[in-house]
Amino acid sequence: MKYRSYTVHNFREIPQVKQKLTPEQQFDIEVVAQVFPFKTNNYVVEKLINWENPLEDPIFRLTFPQKGMLLEEDYNEIARLLKENAPKETIREKANQIRMKLNPHPAGQKYNIPEINGVKLHGAQHKYRETILFFPKQGQTCHAYCTFCFRWPQFVGIDELKFAMKEVQVLIDYIKAHPEITDLLFTGGDPLIMKTKILRQYIEPILEAKIPHLKTIRIGSKALAFWPYRFTEDDDAEDLLKLFREIREAGYHLAYMAHFNHYQELGTEEVEQAVEKILETGAVIRTQSPILRHINDSAEVWSTMWKKQVQMNMIPYYMFMARDTGAQHYFGVPLVRAWEIFRKAYYSVSGIARTVKGPSMSATPGKVRILGVSEINGDKVMVLDFLQGRNPEWVGKPFFAKYDENAMWLDELEPYQGDKFFYEDELKEMLKTEEKVSL
Ligand SMILES: *Cc1c(COP(=O)(O)O)cnc(C)c1O
Ligand code: SF4
Repeated sequence: MKYRSYTVHNFREIPQVKQKLTPEQQFDIEVVAQVFPFKTNNYVVEKLINWENPLEDPIFRLTFPQKGMLLEEDYNEIARLLKENAPKETIREKANQIRMKLNPHPAGQKYNIPEINGVKLHGAQHKYRETILFFPKQGQTCHAYCTFCFRWPQFVGIDELKFAMKEVQVLIDYIKAHPEITDLLFTGGDPLIMKTKILRQYIEPILEAKIPHLKTIRIGSKALAFWPYRFTEDDDAEDLLKLFREIREAGYHLAYMAHFNHYQELGTEEVEQAVEKILETGAVIRTQSPILRHINDSAEVWSTMWKKQVQMNMIPYYMFMARDTGAQHYFGVPLVRAWEIFRKAYYSVSGIARTVKGPSMSATPGKVRILGVSEINGDKVMVLDFLQGRNPEWVGKPFFAKYDENAMWLDELEPYQGDKFFYEDELKEMLKTEEKVSL
């Protein structure tokens, strides 16, 4: 299949859209797409979405903007401007105002920018001791956009090899200077949006540097769900698989962190073939997804998805809470409810699929898991622990919050006893130092 993308400018050309969506429904998409990024593609449209009842379809809701993603007043404003044929500039300004209300930079993202010899590595984040995240410049877009995602694709089309090489050298210097780093995680956007030729410019120098403490290379990607041809029939698919083999032959654990939101993304022949191709290289595929209202907020969806993943030889890894950004009012699931769904799905699968951890919030202090709801002296409490912490010693210590059925994020929870959680003073100190460093 030849890749064809659809955006707000041409989605009305999609035959299924013409046939199955009323003009009003098409207009809703246009309105919401002024605020949220919208991109889908011919594989998603033709192979993943069930067009019998698109408005109820999880994959339609995953890639086509949904009316409910905007608050009513915001929807009405944009709709009015479009109907009045307002100038593009006016619409853009209004859209920006709305975006600013939607907490576009959640969870302390501005912290943890690595620095070596006075040089800041802006395309990287080192938050947890063992793992450094790297965002290659050319990987800041995706084969389609998820409606719940708020990582704005800012660097589309920057395609300069020299720049890539310069950046990766700083990354290598940084990793060399940090013997505690064992994992390098390529993320984005989607790093597999890059042509293999470009990806090689990043990976080969890392292999050549032979850093003894670096053991694992992870690639976080949604290509298996949104464009499995990346591993089968694209021009450079074979070369990508060859690169994976080279990583393995150089002695690294290669972990493909696959992003799947629903079992419907696992049902095509294309994805089955692609998974096999990846596994043949010696890579391991681990899977992760946020829990999202309107898309996958049922235990049955998760247990089915985990079972199917195991059947396909993939390893379930994380269930995340939807971040406190963007259309969280539409996609967000309360913590207690997410835990109930997790637990029910978890106990419906065999131990082989219980490699999954969650539900977990990637919050400022770390990845905080909801272990469950319990009781202390007759009081209902929520039990939490760290799966990852800014201080690794925080990990694995259960702590308690007052029961709150509606809370969606860590900052809405209150400690069960005292006025702060055990890590808060230390966290404040850490953030202060970092702020000084970044001045
Ligand atoms: C999740 C995450 C990692 C990886 O954590 P693991 O538990 O090792 O998978 C690394 N860095 C950041 C910032 C993360 O959010
Ligand atoms: S594939 Fe990942 S980065 Fe891209 S839009 Fe979806 S969630 Fe965001």
